[in-house]
Amino acid sequence: MEWTKEDLKFVRENKNKMMNKELGEALGRNKDNVRATMQYYGIKRSKKAIMKFRVEGNIRGGLKAGLKRIGKKSNNKKRIKYKRISCIYPELSECWICISHIERTNGYHVVNRNKKRYRMSRYVWLMNFGKIPEGMLVCHKCDTPECINPDHLFLGTQADNINDAVKKGRAYWQKEKVT
Ligand SMILES: [Zn+2]
Repeated sequence: MEWTKEDLKFVRENKNKMMNKELGEALGRNKDNVRATMQYYGIKRSKKAIMKFRVEGNIRGGLKAGLKRIGKKSNNKKRIKYKRISCIYPELSECWICISHIERTNGYHVVNRNKKRYRMSRYVWLMNFGKIPEGMLVCHKCDTPECINPDHLFLGTQADNINDAVKKGRAYWQKEKVT
C-alpha cells in the first residue's frame, strides 16, 4: 500500500503524540512499516517524545521479558494474561486486569512460581523493577487490587498505604453509608 501525502502529513503531525504502533493502527499499517517510512523520509521525533516512548516501552517490555523467562523454564506454568480497561483515575493510563490467575476474596490475584506463592502485584513488581525491600508493600495508584499495570504500582510502607487510602476515601471506616 502506497503512502499518500495525507498519510505522511498525519505522521508528521502526530509523531510526538503517538508511538509507531498507534500511528500504524490509525493508518491501517503495521508498526515496522511506519518505522521504515519515517526513516526513509527523515521524519524524526522530538527527544522528549523518544524518551517518553522508551520508558513506556521498557515497562511493557519488562513485563513481557519476565513472562518469557518463566515460560521457558517450564511449559506447564500458567502465562499471566490480562485485559485492558480504562482506569477510574483519568490521569493514569489504562488498568491491566489479571484474568489468568485465581482471585482471592480480597481482590488480589496470586501466582505460584519456584515453589513460592506471590501476590500478583508483588510478582509483577519483582519482574519489572527488581527486589522489594523488606517491609515494603506494592501499592496501587489506581486502587484496583487486580490491576497489574507496572505503571500503576508504587512501593510504600504500611503507613503510606493507609494514608493513601484515607486521602482517596477508600478506608473501610470512610465507606460506611450514612442513611
Ligand atoms: Zn491500574
